[in-house]
Amino acid sequence: MNRRPLELAIGQSCQDRCVFCSDVPDIEVVVPAEQLRARMIEARALGATAVEFSGLEPTLRADFVDLVREARHLGYQRIQVITNGRRFADREFARAAVQAGLNSVLVSIHGDSAALEASIVGTEQSWTEKRAGIENLQAAFLATRISSKHHAFAILETNVVVTSANVDHLDPVVSFLAGLGIARINLYAARPFGWGNRNFDAAIPPIAAAGTAAVAAARRARKMGTPAFVCDFPPCVLGDGADLAGSPEDKEVIAVLKSGKEQRLEGLTKKAIHKTKGAPCETCAVEPACEGVYREYVRRRGWSEIRAIPRA
Ligand code: SF4
Repeated sequence: MNRRPLELAIGQSCQDRCVFCSDVPDIEVVVPAEQLRARMIEARALGATAVEFSGLEPTLRADFVDLVREARHLGYQRIQVITNGRRFADREFARAAVQAGLNSVLVSIHGDSAALEASIVGTEQSWTEKRAGIENLQAAFLATRISSKHHAFAILETNVVVTSANVDHLDPVVSFLAGLGIARINLYAARPFGWGNRNFDAAIPPIAAAGTAAVAAARRARKMGTPAFVCDFPPCVLGDGADLAGSPEDKEVIAVLKSGKEQRLEGLTKKAIHKTKGAPCETCAVEPACEGVYREYVRRRGWSEIRAIPRA
């Protein structure tokens, strides 16, 4: 039985304009709910128990809550969304989504102030709405956890993307998030494609410095009692922080393209096709398990930051 989670990249637009966004902004076609339902039925029949809604901002779909409800009716145990969190500023919407079955939310938040967040996502309004969204989701989870087995393990996590704007400020950012009672903090390397490619020089920090800062921040969050992980960095830039690397989840990813056609991607391959290995990797102890470095990153900045991990 294939028990891999199903990721449906269903969003068509987004209110934010993140400097690193790797998605295509504004997909004009609306993928019919029936088409998405068929994919969820298919994956359930293969044994999937988790479904994740992603792609731009999935909560902007008018039928988002209905899709969550459908997933629950089909028997999915973990129903997750990757979101900028802004739509959840509407308390009724947050409550309705959680009551329909949403029990895992990953909010993208990258700063500890309106000004820092705005410098990364392009709008100050995002900050106020995200903050309210997080509060509303926490309240909705708490209320529903008491009455529903389905929500016994409800979790609210945050994804922080390490950019040039926050790389020297990550400790305050994770301290702030830990103080909000976030269940887990994931610190991600910025990807150099999409808007991350266009804004490369201004937005993407040197990967070695970003890895060091992410490890220090993850350690700080853990000291405060909040699980924290560094994600999508090559192990060689993590120094003694390799134990903090969040392991990628093997998923079946179905993305909907601008044309309306579906594209199936293997979860791990989705990133790996953009990565490469170079001369330092030839002697590296972890080479067989490493995905490598983003091809576009080394095309622009070369291999000088990448150093093989010595074999024992
Ligand atoms: S294989 Fe290459 S990219 Fe991966 S950790 Fe080793 S040196 Fe770094």
